[in-house]
Amino acid sequence: MIISRKKFLKIAGVSALAVTGERLARNFAGAMQSEEQKTAGALTTKRLAMVIDLKKCAQEEGCTQCIDACHRIHNVPVIDDRNHEISWIWKDEFKHAFHSAHNEYTAKHIEHLPVLLLCNHCGNPPCVRVCPTKATWKREADGIVVMDWHRCIGCRYCMAACPYGSRSFNWTDPRPNIKEVNVDFPTRTKGVVEKCNFCDERLAKGKLPACVESCPQNALFFGDVDDAGSEIRQVLASEFAIRRKPELGTNPEVFYIV
Ligand code: SF4
Repeated sequence: MIISRKKFLKIAGVSALAVTGERLARNFAGAMQSEEQKTAGALTTKRLAMVIDLKKCAQEEGCTQCIDACHRIHNVPVIDDRNHEISWIWKDEFKHAFHSAHNEYTAKHIEHLPVLLLCNHCGNPPCVRVCPTKATWKREADGIVVMDWHRCIGCRYCMAACPYGSRSFNWTDPRPNIKEVNVDFPTRTKGVVEKCNFCDERLAKGKLPACVESCPQNALFFGDVDDAGSEIRQVLASEFAIRRKPELGTNPEVFYIV
């Protein structure tokens, strides 16, 4: 079972990091899934997902803390040219994010509600099916759709296949446009596709995704939806949540409470 968000923050706040860090790594190591862990009987996760509470998210107008945190730690370049920009996580209005849920009578405050968007880590990801070099795949252990940038040949089939526009292409060398390089995370090169990785590098250290951790409104929930006792399942059981373009059968793992 994944440690709950509240519990995580409480524990982290106490700062007994040496001991706590070890415990967190044990309890929240779903993304590692090494053979060593499996044989050691460590807790594993099966289906990692995110819930975004749009009303809570909108409480702080113009807030970009989750986006800033994600892009900072993942060395996402800042490129002003909209045709060349790179985004792992971004916001758009409800009417654009949820075309089929929007109609001409939708209330204005819903129509213009900012929606946080990212890769949906689809249960049935079309991007994976079309990649000719197997540079992107869905991890069996936890369902995260990951990438190996060294294997990406920049054909952009995955971008064409993704119905959510969740992938970006490096038309130019991104490195000169990274504000401050995080040396603990790789940078990419010209000609490579990239996208959100559900912070798999943080999960491996027992940490929550950066967007979840940095949200001042606690609007984001993350965990194993296969675990009936997890916080994310409790949230989904108590609120009405929708997903983007469910009619396509991609089975997104990002849920939205409207
Ligand atoms: Fe692939 Fe797009 Fe689904 Fe992410 S949202 S898994 S990039 S199809």
